[in-house]
Amino acid sequence: MNMKALFSAAVLLALLSPCRSLVHAAEFPVIRWEGRTMGSPYTVQIVGTNLTSEQVDALKAEVEQQLKEVNRQMSHYQPDSELSQFNRAAAGKPFKVSPEFAHVVRFSLEMARRSDGAFDPTLAPVVNLWGFGEKTEQRAVPPEAELKAALAVTGWKHLSVTPDDELIKDIPGLTINLSAVAKGFGVDEMIKVLRGHGLTNVYASIAGEVRALGCNPRGTKWQVGISAPVAHWRENDPMAAVASLSNQALSTSGDYQKFFTDAQGRRLSHIIDPRTGWPIQNNIGGVSTVASDNMTADALATTLFVMGPVEGMKFVESWTNAAALFIVRAGEDQFQHLPSSRFSAMTGFNP
Ligand code: AMP
Ligand code: MG
Repeated sequence: MNMKALFSAAVLLALLSPCRSLVHAAEFPVIRWEGRTMGSPYTVQIVGTNLTSEQVDALKAEVEQQLKEVNRQMSHYQPDSELSQFNRAAAGKPFKVSPEFAHVVRFSLEMARRSDGAFDPTLAPVVNLWGFGEKTEQRAVPPEAELKAALAVTGWKHLSVTPDDELIKDIPGLTINLSAVAKGFGVDEMIKVLRGHGLTNVYASIAGEVRALGCNPRGTKWQVGISAPVAHWRENDPMAAVASLSNQALSTSGDYQKFFTDAQGRRLSHIIDPRTGWPIQNNIGGVSTVASDNMTADALATTLFVMGPVEGMKFVESWTNAAALFIVRAGEDQFQHLPSSRFSAMTGFNP
């Protein structure tokens, strides 16, 4: 049976949007599943449909196939991904990639241009050197000469994309790392699959990248928690804030999950200043962004973390369809919440 026919019943029910039926006391039925992709957990929730277990299995297989496809294109863990092949390729020669990969690179280069290089998709050698890339077992301050050598083969201006979806590096050794944007794109691809079946009340996430459509099982907007960037962060710690989302994406970048502490007690995290090659050290613990798609929210959150609360706040205000909440350290596990002007209106956040 073809998948479209398979989901016709689901479509019909989903069209009767639960958001408009708040008189219901009971919760709407919800289908949930979890899995792993890109080294992280992912989740899906679908509300208000009566899919059979076979239909759910088919949908899950389709979502996972889509995620596999993103990994085949953009994973830096997979030696045979398009990205890994491009990373090994010679300079000066156009390298044909899939339209999706080209799209994410184009977007990343646009973010790099707009942020004056705060966002840089070519930091792979530096990220790897600090132990935040493929090999994560050795995290230490690298020797200065090695850092200099790694930095010399970075720079978004050395990367371009042709209208025919070909990537070109103009210096040997230039390599791509899309860790700051690919999870968000992956969530958008999951949503595309779900929406393609007419499902309108859904939630999809990969690690801290979340996108939600329509309503949750209670018939209201989806409630997504934002962690407090405490020194000894644990998965189920109390939330610093809650964002109410519908047809929006939320992304968080922070220094409280992937970091190590050096001999001087400095917290050195995975977000790198492209100018120095050093982990960013400003007073932001975490920054959460909201946008209509998750690729934008993801890249923007990383960019704002690099820019810091002052420059970052100015930058996000220049995006008319995005907003951010900066959580700034004001002492040991003490925080100041700095929302951009549109954040409360877009998320219901109450400062
Ligand atoms: P995120 O968790 O989305 O903020 O992405 C952080 C990841 O992106 C890091 O683990 C690095 O692999 C990579 N990265 C680090 N610094 C930058 C940067 N300035 N621009 C783009 N990607 C970065
Ligand atoms: Mg990001």
